[in-house]
Amino acid sequence: MKIAVLPGDGIGPEIVAQAVKVLDVLKSDGAKIEMETAAIGGAGYDAAGDPLPEATLKLAREADAVLLGAVGGPQYDTLDRPLRPERGLLRIRKELNLFANLRPALLYPELASASSLKPEVVSGLDLMIVRELTGDVYFGQPRGIEIRNGERVGFNTMLYSESEVRRVAHVAFGIAMKRGKKLCSVEKANVLECSELWKEVMIEVSKDYPEVELSHMYVDNAAMQLIRAPKQFDTMVTGNIFGDILSDAASMLSGSIGMLPSASLDENNKGMYEPIHGSAPDISGKNLANPLATILSVAMMYRYTFADLATADRIEGAVKKVIAQGLRTGDIWTEGTQKVSCSEMGDAVVKAL
Ligand code: NAD
Repeated sequence: MKIAVLPGDGIGPEIVAQAVKVLDVLKSDGAKIEMETAAIGGAGYDAAGDPLPEATLKLAREADAVLLGAVGGPQYDTLDRPLRPERGLLRIRKELNLFANLRPALLYPELASASSLKPEVVSGLDLMIVRELTGDVYFGQPRGIEIRNGERVGFNTMLYSESEVRRVAHVAFGIAMKRGKKLCSVEKANVLECSELWKEVMIEVSKDYPEVELSHMYVDNAAMQLIRAPKQFDTMVTGNIFGDILSDAASMLSGSIGMLPSASLDENNKGMYEPIHGSAPDISGKNLANPLATILSVAMMYRYTFADLATADRIEGAVKKVIAQGLRTGDIWTEGTQKVSCSEMGDAVVKAL
């Protein structure tokens, strides 16, 4: 398996270095993996004048999976928009046709006090949100701002084709099969025709997955239920805009941005794996960042692209172990636990592996 390693900017290189240590251990244990590093984001701009250099895109296309750190930094904020680091990220997602975004919200019981919700509401939370990533009102045509009846109007088009809903439905049902076999489809079918179609297609696809219990929820209720009783959910599937909002809300249930990985998959389960956080310029270069979200992204790579569940479990088990040992980077540190640096955390995971 070939992995394209794209560290990016800010803390990206520091956290990716820890994930690479984990991959090196797996390699020395016999895993047939090859890694090749390339520049993206601000680093891509610095190296080749492009946030997604041609050579990086070529490497990503040829690879089986992509491991990404983070992009962006204040030094790039004044560049023309097409040259900004974030554009490189959007482009690579589009070029690789990564239409299914998987965002787990997981809370280790030992970190329950880091959440802004009561520990009993969130402790042990293990939820997966599958968000459609390349359609919906973010991409639908027509869109624009124009003059109508003497005043400006802004408009966008919420649009899903059957095939777009069907392909993300298959991903979500497949994931629910590997988890608790419960899938909640979130839409607004009481008001939107687009959601009505979404719901119909979900019901059609559910016939292929008789073991999965499918339920439906309106997005306004889902927002409330996520905060009221998040542990009722196992796997959720939703469109681009609803998923954008709900997955950010869900990530805060765990209270620790440095702990949450993500995956974006194409039709063949090729994927890009990255922590949900950004490049954290405020702590970059200080060996302070939490590398666990990036290491857990490697676990997701094993689960979803390499279909090697035993190795995924092994990596997640090692992370659980270091948390149980009381090791904490600054973002998750509380009184009575041991503060460690980014590289010390990486070393501890390697030892636990
Ligand atoms: P951020 O996620 O980088 O940082 C928010 C806060 O969380 C900061 O205080 C930071 O120190 C902390 N934090 C983030 N990750 C951490 C980690 N692993 N360990 C410990 N603390 C961590 O978001 P921001 O400050 O809004 O954005 C900074 C830059 O990152 C911007 O240029 C933005 O465009 C970019 N960004 C990139 C991505 C991405 O690459 N996927 C995502 C979001 C933001």
